[in-house]
Amino acid sequence: MTWQEDAGRDLVRSFGERMALFVRGEGSYLWDAEGRRYLDFLAGIAVDSLGHAHPAFVEAISTQAATLAHVSNYFATPPQLALAATLKRLAGTGDSGRVYFGNSGAEANEAAFKLARLHGAQSRRAGADRPRILALKDAFHGRTMGTLALTGKPWMQEPFLPMTPGVEFIDSTADALEAAIDDRVAALFVEPVKGEAGVIDLPEGYLEAAREITARHGALLIIDEIQTGAGRTGEWFAFQHAGITPDAITVAKGIGGGFPIGALITFGAASELFYPGTHGSTFGGNALGTAVAGAVLGEIERADLVRNAAERGEQLREGILGIDSELIAGCRGRGLLLGVALRHPVAKAVVSAAQEHGLVINAPNDETIRLVPALTIGDVEIDEFLALFTAALRTVEDALLLEPAHDATEVPA
Ligand SMILES: *Cc1c(COP(=O)(O)O)cnc(C)c1O
Repeated sequence: MTWQEDAGRDLVRSFGERMALFVRGEGSYLWDAEGRRYLDFLAGIAVDSLGHAHPAFVEAISTQAATLAHVSNYFATPPQLALAATLKRLAGTGDSGRVYFGNSGAEANEAAFKLARLHGAQSRRAGADRPRILALKDAFHGRTMGTLALTGKPWMQEPFLPMTPGVEFIDSTADALEAAIDDRVAALFVEPVKGEAGVIDLPEGYLEAAREITARHGALLIIDEIQTGAGRTGEWFAFQHAGITPDAITVAKGIGGGFPIGALITFGAASELFYPGTHGSTFGGNALGTAVAGAVLGEIERADLVRNAAERGEQLREGILGIDSELIAGCRGRGLLLGVALRHPVAKAVVSAAQEHGLVINAPNDETIRLVPALTIGDVEIDEFLALFTAALRTVEDALLLEPAHDATEVPA
């Protein structure tokens, strides 16, 4: 039996065919079962902030596993309290902030969804209901039934209808928000760079406008920082580029550096909405996970990786725009969350060609390549990336020229 046959028979079919069998990683490199080395510019989808097998990650997970892994949320542990304090400090909540821990992005957003409903319930008790929730078209918030209801992609929702009611999708403009909002809206959910949709930036000034408009109507502004957080965009959290204060943010992916953990961080009055019995998780915030996330954030801070993300992001963008290729139409995103826009719908062919050349990247749609490498990358990784990416683009260009009549999406890699 090959591993492909095992995977095809035993694993759930909701993911496409697995592209490789990886057995080991170190820094920004992965090795497959045949011993081939790959440069990893996907980093487990913006998860492996420190790259693979970083000593700080390994040390934290080993030491905490040998000390205390899990005791349940009937009790507190030192790593949990330390991580909550760190997240509050980095997010700038001040004393009034609070942190809820879950095990994934979807769980963080589920908690945020319930936060919005609790805000609605509080208004209802005061005699003014808030049954409406606004979210942005094309934004991604997760795959559970609650977070799918927040995800503005009709094709993703269709097989699972009916959705949890109350969510309405609007365009990502201040005008659309102004037109849709009233005093019956409990919350607006915003993904500050739409990663899964193809690394789509919000219009300039959107977050500032959204803050003003939601505040005027008493609605919560909830920002999904699951992909953008932990320094990836060149600030600890993407909302900080706008200089605003949201009511809540959700984090996951990069804060665990490969350990599954997520969190909802609330600001000000929103911190008082949950009360005993309204939410919980058995694993959420256990000593092992919070020790690892604490070590990951500590290393990002110690090594100044937030600034590295900003600077290397610019270097990478310039390098990409300097590639002499007909295929490249532009580059979106911020810091080390970049989307290379292609002129033809050949992104999947580029991903396959890149893998042949020893480079791991990903295509969130047919016309975009997403780059979310470890925050630790330097000149060596960027130079190697540019060489491998250029080679992959050439392979696809050559295929396009050889087979001009082909449907572009079917170009062989
Ligand atoms: C990945 C992601 C999620 C879902 O996180 P999971 O850990 O896969 O549940 C939610 N929102 C955004 C913006 C994401 O990128």
